[in-house]
Amino acid sequence: MDSLIQEGWFRETCSLWPGQAMSLQVEEILYQKKSAFQDILLFKSKTYGNVLVLDGVIQCTERDEFSYQEMIAHLPLCCHPNPRKVLIIGGGDGGVLREVVKHQSVESVVQCEIDEEVISVSKKFLPSMAVGYSSPKLTLHVGDGFEFMKQNQEAFDVIITDSSDPVGPAESLFKESYYQLMKAALRENGILCCQGECQWLHLQLIKEMRRFCKSLFPVVEYAYCTIPTYPSGQIGFMLCSKTPTTNFHEPVQELSQEQVDKMKLKYYNSNIHRAAFVLPEFARKVLSDV
Ligand code: SAM
Repeated sequence: MDSLIQEGWFRETCSLWPGQAMSLQVEEILYQKKSAFQDILLFKSKTYGNVLVLDGVIQCTERDEFSYQEMIAHLPLCCHPNPRKVLIIGGGDGGVLREVVKHQSVESVVQCEIDEEVISVSKKFLPSMAVGYSSPKLTLHVGDGFEFMKQNQEAFDVIITDSSDPVGPAESLFKESYYQLMKAALRENGILCCQGECQWLHLQLIKEMRRFCKSLFPVVEYAYCTIPTYPSGQIGFMLCSKTPTTNFHEPVQELSQEQVDKMKLKYYNSNIHRAAFVLPEFARKVLSDV
């Protein structure tokens, strides 16, 4: 792990994005340890606040995390007419949980994160995200999300998979069999939203995921947001609905400016919701012929 930081700079290289690397200037290493599942690094950066890195890959920074966390939570929740029971897989930093519990209709949230160590370092060094863990609506499980999904049938209105990339512990969460399990775990009019990788880097993976999603669900859409510290500055979301009439492009819960302010949203509003599904031509072409 030491090689990740040289001359005061953290450099993110990975075979998933060959030939490019994101660098952040490091002020102080706050935590560095190998857990049972992955290498965990937490450092204070010069301009992005505290940064969580797993197996050498940036998971979140205090400066820009809100864009991803708000979008992966509010895109599906605002498309469901009455989300009451929500399941989060992964999401160890707590940021998605923080967003989910902002919805008044949500009565209970179950979260299944594989690595207890990520939860405890987040509570210590990422308090603005881990604040979600104090919600009385939460039931927390520490375990593998794939295995956990097998134990649930028609139990959730919305499932959100906030996973790391498809290498290491999260590999199974990008497979067709996982989407089959999620389908079974969703209630009749359920919706799912999963970390869907980046259109600049993984269009073929997204295409393949969209193909198998379409064989399982009547409505499947890909959306994205901008975020400086994810590879290529963007990340996407795969959204699927069990209800044929769902139109992901149009939120059924339109948030007023008052609600946006009350929920302390910094990225999500109803217009960016609509815009998130409008793809650039290179991606639209590849994904529309699935
Ligand atoms: N949005 C971030 C990204 O794309 O880089 C991911 C943030 S969140 C920290 C990812 C979490 O997924 C991590 O805490 C990791 O431990 C967890 N995770 C990975 N594989 C998992 C699995 N099979 N079951 C449950 N949680 C898993």
